[in-house]
Amino acid sequence: MDRFDAVWVNARLATMTHGRPYGAIDDGAIAVKDGLIAWVGPRAALPDGGEIQHDAGGRWITPGLIDCHTHLVFGGDRAEEFEMRLNGATYEEIARAGGGIASSVTRTRAASEDQLYQSGARRLKALMSEGVTTVEIKSGYGLDIENEAKMLRVARRLGATLPATVITTFLGAHAMPPGFEGQSSDYIALVAGPMMDRIVAENLADAVDVFAESIAFSPEEAAIVFEAARRHGLPVKLHADQLSDQGGAALAARFGALSAEHLEYASEAGIAAMGEAGTVAVLLPGAYYFLRDTTMPPIAAMRRHGVDIAIASDCNPGSSPAVSLLLMLNMACTLFRLTPEEALSGVTRVAAKALGLNDRGILETGKRADFVLWDVSHPAELSYWIGAKPAHRIVRGGGILEMSP
Ligand SMILES: [Zn+2]
Repeated sequence: MDRFDAVWVNARLATMTHGRPYGAIDDGAIAVKDGLIAWVGPRAALPDGGEIQHDAGGRWITPGLIDCHTHLVFGGDRAEEFEMRLNGATYEEIARAGGGIASSVTRTRAASEDQLYQSGARRLKALMSEGVTTVEIKSGYGLDIENEAKMLRVARRLGATLPATVITTFLGAHAMPPGFEGQSSDYIALVAGPMMDRIVAENLADAVDVFAESIAFSPEEAAIVFEAARRHGLPVKLHADQLSDQGGAALAARFGALSAEHLEYASEAGIAAMGEAGTVAVLLPGAYYFLRDTTMPPIAAMRRHGVDIAIASDCNPGSSPAVSLLLMLNMACTLFRLTPEEALSGVTRVAAKALGLNDRGILETGKRADFVLWDVSHPAELSYWIGAKPAHRIVRGGGILEMSP
């Protein structure tokens, strides 16, 4: 029996482990066995074994990219709202007028599972074509038991049928559904009770998320949902402090959340609490860009308090219709002034942490053999180009993916 199934040589490796910039290894090799990285290091030290030798042609190899925050399963789109906003309406005005998330709820409820699968698959394939091998998908446009379960079944099916790992998140507390006006405590009781019970019974969610915001749910309501998640043994995350400081960062930290997202208005104390708790900050530059926000997330405070920073597409119909994670790297650097190395860490090593996944995100022995060969001469190019398609080969679980256009 061969020691390795295949060996990749003549590669420059961005292992994204600590130590040197990008964890780089100049003349590197990766050996895979049974879907895992069996050996990685300088080619000169590569042990014998392995029938198949792939020549990487001197290309850079990074871990497979991880998009740790998306809402990519939804009905319809919101291009008309985009136009409304350009005619002067604000995000909050649209939300209060029954548009915004509510219009996506109507269309998602009306869509069949097959329709949601088809449109979701298109968006997921667009992400995958750039080298994304793991993606998180949230519910939150169903907002009743049947339709939240439907969305999450579609997300599970995407993961079962396409060559990407899909991690699902139950976001029943995304918005107030029609019919619950002025009864948010009743709706939260439904989300934290029968809705979550059903989601857990069908094993549809890997984590639980809440949108804590002046136009959505209060920190106290988020805490009720988190307590329920804790009883079910599910990790939590929080859409926090996107439009105003709601104390969301501190709340996420108090519950030991995997991650808190957006954080444009988070306080320094909240960021410090996240650093203590090891809660990842997930920055979503696509939403910042698309909403033409002007308040940057407190990046300096995050660095000061040792908060790990992830970057994600936030792919959703209202505030970030983004199906390019590489564009998000560029925006993280241009809009948020992250370094290209921080940005790449944010879609590999740190994104894995934001999803609670220990088996990927870096090139290291024992991790999943998910990696991408790039037609670039330096990893900074992944953040630098706008609209380039530099993925040369995508390897998932040790096998080369054939990506259909
Ligand atoms: Zn989101």
